[in-house]
Amino acid sequence: MSDLAPADGLGPWQQFLCRACGLIYDEGEGDPDSGLPPGTRFADIPEDWACPICGVTKADFEPYRRRAPVAPMPVSVAPQRRPGVVIVGGGISGWSVAEAIRAEDARVPITLVTACDGGLYHKPELSVALGRGLNPEALRRETGDAAAARLGLRLMADTVAVGLSLERHSLRTTRGTLAYTHLVLAHGARPALPACLDPALCWRVNDLAAWSALHAELARGPRTVAVIGAGMVGCELAEDLARAGHAVTLVGAGSLPLPDLLPEPAGRRLLTGLEGLGVRYRGNSLVSGLSRTPDGLTTLALADGTRLSAATVIAATGLATPSRLVRGAGLAFDHGIVVDPASLRTSGPDIFALGDCISLDGQPCRFIEPVAHQAAVIAHAILGREHAGYAHAAPVIRLKTRSAPIALHGAPVAGAPWYVVEDSEHRLAMEQRQGGAVTAWLAA
Ligand SMILES: Cc1cc2nc3c(=O)[nH]c(=O)nc-3n(C[C@H](O)[C@H](O)[C@H](O)COP(=O)(O)OP(=O)(O)OC[C@H]3O[C@@H](n4cnc5c(N)ncnc54)[C@H](O)[C@@H]3O)c2cc1C
Repeated sequence: MSDLAPADGLGPWQQFLCRACGLIYDEGEGDPDSGLPPGTRFADIPEDWACPICGVTKADFEPYRRRAPVAPMPVSVAPQRRPGVVIVGGGISGWSVAEAIRAEDARVPITLVTACDGGLYHKPELSVALGRGLNPEALRRETGDAAAARLGLRLMADTVAVGLSLERHSLRTTRGTLAYTHLVLAHGARPALPACLDPALCWRVNDLAAWSALHAELARGPRTVAVIGAGMVGCELAEDLARAGHAVTLVGAGSLPLPDLLPEPAGRRLLTGLEGLGVRYRGNSLVSGLSRTPDGLTTLALADGTRLSAATVIAATGLATPSRLVRGAGLAFDHGIVVDPASLRTSGPDIFALGDCISLDGQPCRFIEPVAHQAAVIAHAILGREHAGYAHAAPVIRLKTRSAPIALHGAPVAGAPWYVVEDSEHRLAMEQRQGGAVTAWLAA
């Protein structure tokens, strides 16, 4: 929040939400890093300004009106007649549900159980923060305790949900059993590490704690870094590490990065951008094992019999939703917690789920954009209020590789043909069509 009071007669500072990555531009705070001093009205931002996190333009922002929370009851005096809402997960999804409930209701007791410390941060920043010289403190927006006090909820940090009884409406955690009237599962997904990659020998970046530990290791000076996996996160991390001065090798299964998502011309532009920053791409390569050498390096054994060494190895090999908690309770699971696409109810009574941990028609959708809509639907259902329901729309996919930013719209189908609309030195535009209609398009 800005301390600067508006003096231009245009009313309070407004906020604008980046639809692509969830960043909130606050007029009172501006964006000093890109030359916008505090107090810069959104309307006065130059058209060529780019989102400091994902690089999209002003056109991809929309007014953001976070409703002022109804002043919550202090936790100690909140009526405890009913057990209340229990939320599992202290990422953006869990906190968004708490905010959405408090925007409507000050009294319903809320307990947020999370395996992490509960601190609020903006996860998309983790793949662009090193190159900007940011440290863990700069990434933390609010402590869990401060957010819990603001929202009048009970935070159980460093607490893991381990069991669920549908009959008793109770959640077993590492710090005791909690009864609930409604349960919201927002426990995200975990890095999916192939069995051949020893977890002790490679980093995974899916939360601030892991990023902070990696940041500490890399702070010792420029290093050789191997990034395994040339998907979105792998490509973004490779670029970010290169910008921070490290010697990066990106190991990918395809001849070009992001082969499952991008057609060949776009993958080639991405590769050119990364190589321009010094990233070495090792394509058509599968890692079959990791081992430590006597001099402290890590050797990557590749399936073709060759090897490469690096001081630091990062695995960006995708995510998987843990299933033990929900399967143990008999809830439907299909690559994620199965939810009704309109109500986001799981197959268990009074249990909802959202964010990275769910699947819709068997497909997870692990992006920021849907979360606020999902949280609002769940909050309204829990409070028994009217709501139009959730209508899933594929979010725009923005690759935050500033060397070759790429935006994908619509619903790209892997393996379906792409048609070139424009291929000039400065711009590539392509589209996928089905039955004459454009179903997906990209700009690079
Ligand atoms: C490097 C990186 C860059 C990204 N960039 C973008 C981007 O540019 N745009 C975009 O849209 N998306 C991006 N994403 C994806 C986006 O950040 C995620 O979709 C989103 O943050 C998921 O939020 P979540 O709250 O559902 O899950 P999470 O953030 O994973 O939160 C899950 C929470 O649950 C807790 N938890 C887990 N298990 C348990 C348990 N058993 N008991 C209690 N607590 C538990 C965890 O500690 C955590 O607090 C990026 C992701 C990464 C990793």
